[in-house]
Amino acid sequence: MPQTILHVAVFKPLRHCFDYLLPEDESANNQPLKLGIRLLVPFGKSQVVGILLKVNHTACISVSKLKPITAILDKEPLLSPNLLSLYHWASRYYQHPIGEVMLGTLPILLRQPSPTILKQRVYTLTPEGKAIDIASLKRSPRQARLLVFLAAQSGNVTTAADIKQAGFDSNVIQNLLKKGWMVQVKKAINHSSSAVAQSLSIAHRTIELPLLLNADQKIAVEKITQAVGFQTFLLEGVTGSGKTEVYLQIIDCCLQQGKQALVLVPEIGLTPQTILRFVKRFSSPVIALHSKLSNKERLQAWMQIQQGELCTVIGTRSALFAPFAQLGIIILDEEHDPSFKQQSGFRYSARDLAIVRGQLENIPVLLGSATPSLETLHNVNTGRFLHLPLPKRAGSAIMPTFHLIDLRRKKLTHGLSHELLTIMEQHLQAGNQALLFLNRRGYAPVLLCQACGWVAQCTRCDAKLTLHQKPMRLICHHCTKEYPVIQACHLCQSKELVYIGLGTQRIEESLRERFPDTDIVRIDRDTSPSKHAIEKTLDNIRYGHKQILIGTQMLAKGHHFPNVTLVGIVNVDSGLYSTDFRATERMGQLIQQVAGRAGRMDKPGHVFLQTHQPAHPLLQTLIHQGYPAFAEKLLQERKSSQWPPFSYLGLLRAEATKSDRVLDFLMQAKKIAGSLLQKSPFKKSMLTILGPISAPMERKAGYFRGLLLFQAKERAMLQKWLTQFLTEVESNTTKSKIRWSLEVDPLELG
Ligand code: ADP
Ligand code: ZN
Ligand code: ZN
Repeated sequence: MPQTILHVAVFKPLRHCFDYLLPEDESANNQPLKLGIRLLVPFGKSQVVGILLKVNHTACISVSKLKPITAILDKEPLLSPNLLSLYHWASRYYQHPIGEVMLGTLPILLRQPSPTILKQRVYTLTPEGKAIDIASLKRSPRQARLLVFLAAQSGNVTTAADIKQAGFDSNVIQNLLKKGWMVQVKKAINHSSSAVAQSLSIAHRTIELPLLLNADQKIAVEKITQAVGFQTFLLEGVTGSGKTEVYLQIIDCCLQQGKQALVLVPEIGLTPQTILRFVKRFSSPVIALHSKLSNKERLQAWMQIQQGELCTVIGTRSALFAPFAQLGIIILDEEHDPSFKQQSGFRYSARDLAIVRGQLENIPVLLGSATPSLETLHNVNTGRFLHLPLPKRAGSAIMPTFHLIDLRRKKLTHGLSHELLTIMEQHLQAGNQALLFLNRRGYAPVLLCQACGWVAQCTRCDAKLTLHQKPMRLICHHCTKEYPVIQACHLCQSKELVYIGLGTQRIEESLRERFPDTDIVRIDRDTSPSKHAIEKTLDNIRYGHKQILIGTQMLAKGHHFPNVTLVGIVNVDSGLYSTDFRATERMGQLIQQVAGRAGRMDKPGHVFLQTHQPAHPLLQTLIHQGYPAFAEKLLQERKSSQWPPFSYLGLLRAEATKSDRVLDFLMQAKKIAGSLLQKSPFKKSMLTILGPISAPMERKAGYFRGLLLFQAKERAMLQKWLTQFLTEVESNTTKSKIRWSLEVDPLELG
């Protein structure tokens, strides 16, 4: 009988597989091991938790060098076959080590070696304790009461905390233990009593009724609920068109069929309001998977989902890996949002993996957005996704009107035109709110010496320092390093220093002078230290009047402000002339999203955009014909320039403290790439290699950064090629003092 070899995923950034032996006594056990169970395995000098991927009789290295596993931690796998397949798919597609993909998305407690983590200490009655006649304990009333208390608990089991809370002290507990009427045991935690879901559902027992759908919503709900098996839908509807109502009714239908539902939202979207809307609608629990959960809460939520409890899970991108026992639908709201892409480590797109998961589970996937990404629109155009438009706002609210303010040859007051200020005044006088959007926090982005032209720069990055006030300091927005304010030029010692440009703090200051009697609220990363504080501010805005709101994109997403009738976008030009091929798409989405904050039934909204490029064709299309026409034009541009979605990208990044090391490494990689293309089954024409070039910001946080970009016409070929390419890069390059990584489908080329 040949040796049984176990292939195990461990939480290490290494691409090759890890093989272990099954000890003889376990082999003799004759129970086949199930894939997806956790094992404790020796790794170097320590013991780590791994996940069983494969069992067979061949190993990557000589069998004599293999070590036996230390312990089997689970009888039943924690991960369903579908989830295992998703992990394998993701690891292959994103060229990322399977161990990091799998264990990196598991609750931390499941990654720790103790096999007892799922258990807690509880007290239970012994058979002797159960047999006691309570009446015989007249002289020890407290002991009698504790026996009665325990007997009343389900399974005669309770925790020390519950006993104490019921008013018993440790003396009486010790007495019962000594007499052998009660014992302490370790028991698996009771997953159905998860704190997460209960605290939410108990607080709001009154269930809200579904709304009567309008014709477009009705078609959307019908199409999705009638879908048999896997199909991806795009629900395209402006803010307030009733997308969330569609989600709620689809989920309701899914729950009624006894299936679980998953809702993925952008990082900024998981607000208490969002969660409440779902909690109020369903009698079954709503589980929010967010970053504030403790490790134990996360594990509990995870187990609840795994055990198939009928529930709706709302979470940010990593909730995609929750172990659903019976998933019925995946909904991804604001599908265009860049936060669905993980930007470090295992760089995956939660949107794209949601579709893969939908395919594996054979269920519908619904993407929703007012401003769909070009990738998604392309998939609609080619027939892969089904388009469900919601062209009108629900109820009688109408879309805001757009106006351009030509900034050329105009005198500006701290970046604001006379025209915009006058309109603000009118809206405020009518008792309404005005919202100003500027995507730059701080006071001013440039500190310039007027005598010699020197500009204050970060010592660690190729970046200018931004002045912040309260407290006054200079901050690098790229590496977060802070500096004291500079009094004299570092080059010529002149004191003629000026601050140039505009941040949200500077706008706030100048508006306080201009509108002294108006309440002004600024929302950006500097003003909002806690989630709680933001919520309070947002509530004040929702119910407030005659206010000016100033904010960065924190203010642009997810919230609806019924009393805002005027939106001013301080500067749209940066999006029109950026070198990043996605910048214009982002700008269009942002304008549309900010505009969507404004107006309600009786108070239509107006959006004013300040620009030096009023005739720019894309800007004209966006404001006169709307986002769909704008996006269609951009798609044409992408097609003629062969950028995604008309090609597929892989980006090799390298960084080091010395710039020549970066260049050396990338040149070696380029050579490998070139010669690999000559080999079958590859062809030179299938791939374009661009670079090496420096990153747009060459030095960041003390590291020089360089890029090598691969652009391919075909996705499958690129995958195959990248796998071989990486294997060769790993074995054939000098990597001393170099950090490098490969990203598939990068969002940013920097
Ligand atoms: P979105 O998610 O597209 O922004 P919502 O679902 O939040 O849109 O709907 C916007 C507003 O319109 C909400 O106040 C919602 O209650 C209301 N609404 C949605 N659908 C309907 C409907 N069919 N009839 C009446 N009001 C609706
Ligand atoms: Zn100077
Ligand atoms: Zn810096």
